[in-house]
Amino acid sequence: MKKAKYILKKINTKLVTSCKKCGNINVLSRIVLWIAVAMAVIALGVVCFYKPARDAVFSNESHTVIEVKSGDTLSSILGNQGFSMRDIDTISKNLKKDADFTTLRAGRDKFDFVRENENAPISKIIIDNGPWNKIEIDCGTPDTWQCQKIEIARDTRVAYQEGEIAQGSSFYLSAMQAGIPEGIILDVYDLLAFEMDFERDIRAGQKFYVLYEENFASDKKVDNGRVLAVSFDALRGNVQMYRYEKADGHAGYYDENGNGAIKSLKRTPINNAKITSKFSGKRKHPVLGYTRAHKGVDFRAPTGTPIPAAGAGRVVARSYNRGHGNFVKIRHNGSFETLYGHMSKFAKGVKVGTTVRQGQIIGYAGSTGLSTGPHLHYEIIKNGVHVNPMTVKLPAIDNLDAKDKKQFMVKKELLLSTIKSLKGNPKQIIRLEEESTKDSK
Ligand SMILES: [Zn+2]
Repeated sequence: MKKAKYILKKINTKLVTSCKKCGNINVLSRIVLWIAVAMAVIALGVVCFYKPARDAVFSNESHTVIEVKSGDTLSSILGNQGFSMRDIDTISKNLKKDADFTTLRAGRDKFDFVRENENAPISKIIIDNGPWNKIEIDCGTPDTWQCQKIEIARDTRVAYQEGEIAQGSSFYLSAMQAGIPEGIILDVYDLLAFEMDFERDIRAGQKFYVLYEENFASDKKVDNGRVLAVSFDALRGNVQMYRYEKADGHAGYYDENGNGAIKSLKRTPINNAKITSKFSGKRKHPVLGYTRAHKGVDFRAPTGTPIPAAGAGRVVARSYNRGHGNFVKIRHNGSFETLYGHMSKFAKGVKVGTTVRQGQIIGYAGSTGLSTGPHLHYEIIKNGVHVNPMTVKLPAIDNLDAKDKKQFMVKKELLLSTIKSLKGNPKQIIRLEEESTKDSK
């Protein structure tokens, strides 16, 4: 368009100059010339703007979108759109055969009836039945109503949020305020619980950030993916964790130096539980009344709160004694044991000899034994000696070898530069495609 205008301008100038040269221009010929030029400009304009206009004219595909409600059946939905019993039967059979689609989910599945224009018969039905796939049913000739399952590509983008602990607030509330999705906050809790205590380590003004994945389907956000990087200004110093997939395909979280961030034991088995009594060599026992060492940490937990194992191991005791009430003791790899007291009941299947994973529920909080109210009494025993769960140095589950460590540093730099870019321009779309991101969470 610009070019066309330029050429016209040139012709125009040339014509006028040549006329000037001949020195014999009458007003009428000038007017005719100007009209001709004006018409040429209009004609070009029409050509230039015709395409979008034509698209608008010819793409009047009509869509009727029906959301499945409870009580709806395939027959009722198709019948309401005027389908014959014979077509409904064909479609129902094809859906089962070609798309393995047999049940409608109220409030989730959507039918889109497509017509070439609003007066045309329905030529296509698109069933939106899950974020990562849809089914297309084509009328075909003659009306064969063939079905085709179409996978929707998972478009994983990265998102960054930062915030700080507000006065009198918790990490959870401050993170929500910072716009971090709830699921991501819970994942961050799980990660940071290895390094800090959310009850005692939280102060107003502490800064934190999270870099995480968001999964999109056809440009619409469907869910959140994994935490890629997290930083928290804890009391003991800044805690950083980065997700890294090792050469062998196993992924984990590592600190800024490439040391395993996932520890063999959790300091706080129950996330976000308030500490009601610390570990100490001496304290006045609330029930016995005299001074006695408190060999563990007490966490406030209403009766029935599930108690996860602090680390992987084998159950070596599931018993009752006067002090601990119902308790479970787990032996972990190496020199560590953990004990969980005052349980209201044990989890099903947890017996002496049972192997448990980290995070597996082993029992439920209560107030059995010498206890003033429902709570979890948690002990860590190292080489037979009780240690303070909040300060004991815990071994990492896995550390990187030299080759992986080198690769980790490259990945860390990539994550940090991504954070920098998103801080500068939060709206930009960044995809990190270096990992097998397709295996969903
Ligand atoms: Zn206790």
